[in-house]
Parts: sequence; C-alpha cells; structure tokens
Amino acid sequence: MAYPKPAPDHILIEQTPSGLRRWCAARRRAGETVGLVPTMGALHEGHLALITALHAAVDRVVVSIFVNPTQFALGEDFTRYPRTEAEDLAKLQGLGVDVAYMPTPDVMYPTGFATEIAVNGPLTQGLDAIARPGHFTGVATVVGKLLLQAMPDVAAFGEKDYQQLQIIRRMARDLDLGVEILPVKTVRDAHGLALSSRNAYLTDDERQVARQLNKILAKTAKALRAGTPGPEACAEAAQSLLEIGFSSVDYVAFADSDTLKPLAQFEGAGRLLAAARVGNTRLIDNIAVGNIETEL
Ligand code: AMP
Repeated sequence: MAYPKPAPDHILIEQTPSGLRRWCAARRRAGETVGLVPTMGALHEGHLALITALHAAVDRVVVSIFVNPTQFALGEDFTRYPRTEAEDLAKLQGLGVDVAYMPTPDVMYPTGFATEIAVNGPLTQGLDAIARPGHFTGVATVVGKLLLQAMPDVAAFGEKDYQQLQIIRRMARDLDLGVEILPVKTVRDAHGLALSSRNAYLTDDERQVARQLNKILAKTAKALRAGTPGPEACAEAAQSLLEIGFSSVDYVAFADSDTLKPLAQFEGAGRLLAAARVGNTRLIDNIAVGNIETEL
C-alpha cells in the first residue's frame, strides 16, 4: 500500500529499509541520537508509553508498524489482527514521532528470504516458547532486521511481553548490535488489565473475566512471598483462572527474572508470568514478585 507523502512539518512515512537507513544515518551524521519502537500497530497507551520513554532518552524517535507474519503460527490471528493505520499515524503525529516506518511483508521478506535469528538457551525453553512454537524465532528475526535497518542508539520494549524483552536483550548482546534496550513498565487500564491490541477482540463479558488475570497474579505473588512453593502457587492460580471463566490456561509460572528458569520457592525476587485464553482471545501478563507488596 502507498501512503501519501507528508507535508514537511508532518510525520515522515518510510516504507523501505533503504529509506529508513538513509534517514537514520543522516540524523546520526548531524550528531543526533535515534530511538526505535517496534510495534505491530493498533496503537494504545502501552505503545505510547514506550514512545514517551524514548523521547526522554534520544533526539529522534522512529516507530515501526509491521504486523509480522513470521511470528504467527498457522491458525493464529494474523489475518484478523487489528490494523488501524490512519488512527495510528494520527497518534504518532500527536506525540511528535519523527518517522513511521511501515514496510510491507514483501519488502521485509522478499522472494528467496532464508535467514532466521534463533535465540537458544533457557530463555526459549519454556513459557511462550513452548505454547507458541516458532514464535520467538519470528520475533527475533524481525526485531533483528528492524534494529539493523535503523541502527538506533536505543530501542524500547514493554515488560508486558516479558519473555520477549529478555530474548531481545540476549540477542542484542549476542549479536553486538550496539543498541541499548530500554524496558518500559506495563500500562494497565483502571482495573489492572494490561493493555493489548488483542483486547479489542474481547466482548464486554470476556473483558470482565480478563480483568481478573492481574488480580490472580497479585494474589499468587502474595502466596509466594508468604512461602507457598512455586509449583503449588502456580497450579492454584491456574485453577482459579479456569474457575472464574478463562477457557484455557497455557501456563502460570514463577521464574528467575533474568533467565526465566523456574523457581521452586520465593527467595527475595522472581517473576510471575501467565498466558490464558478468554473465549478465543489469548492474554499474557506478568508481574515482579519482590519483598514489598507487588504494585500493579
Ligand atoms: P505489539 O504491537 O503488541 O507487538 O507491541 C509493541 C511493543 O509495545 C512491545 O515492546 C510490547 O511489549 C509493548 N507493549 C504492548 N502492550 C504494552 C503495555 N500494555 N504496556 C507496555 N508496553 C506494551
């Protein structure tokens, strides 16, 4: 799809790696720092928090909008994933974003494309790596490409996708990408529900159920802090999710915050992560489990 060329005082829309690379290189030559926020669009306050955090860290901000086909398995929601380009561009413009990078799938994956970035090790041995086989290779490959195309000084990622954040940190370090990965806290609605583009799929009734996920995580964190063993606390949480109306639970897990290896017991720190479905909508969430009462 072709987008109209913006007026000079408007956000610039780039659609090719070469165009983006030229723009970013020119900014760097001018002595400015550049930041990147990779997104799949359908922008909400969570995405906007990433942009705001990046504005404070760099001179220029690029936001990519690309619904990456390779991170969806067959049968997942790639074709019906919400696409709201006009609204997204208006939001980005309002936030003073310099460039919206909107490549098409054939530009990102031209005929003959045959390279993948696979992050191995403990980070991809559990949780969503099991529940969504191939997902993180799709994510690492597309984020790797975006980082190489823009070569930003800083790139922002949400804690909402905690396993993804750790995998991207690992990849950036392992491949010497020279980019600082800036983590941003999860933005939630007034009921604690983590904002997500997929929340648009929820009916009103399903939303009521979805709003219990963060509450059950908070309760489980409390039980962990009080000494309940990890597996027991997580099994209880999974049971509670099913009882209050979740249709299935992929996992509730208590893990080391850095390696994501399962923890048997709370010993001062850890991360509690969950993935569950309300109707057909898959939700993920996670919270830090610390010595103080977990804040949501
Ligand atoms: P997505 O468009 O869902 O691929 O997300 C793009 C980026 O926004 C990722 O780094 C996400 O972790 C981040 N993100 C999504 N939802 C939230 C949220 N509720 N709070 C903070 N960051 C978020």
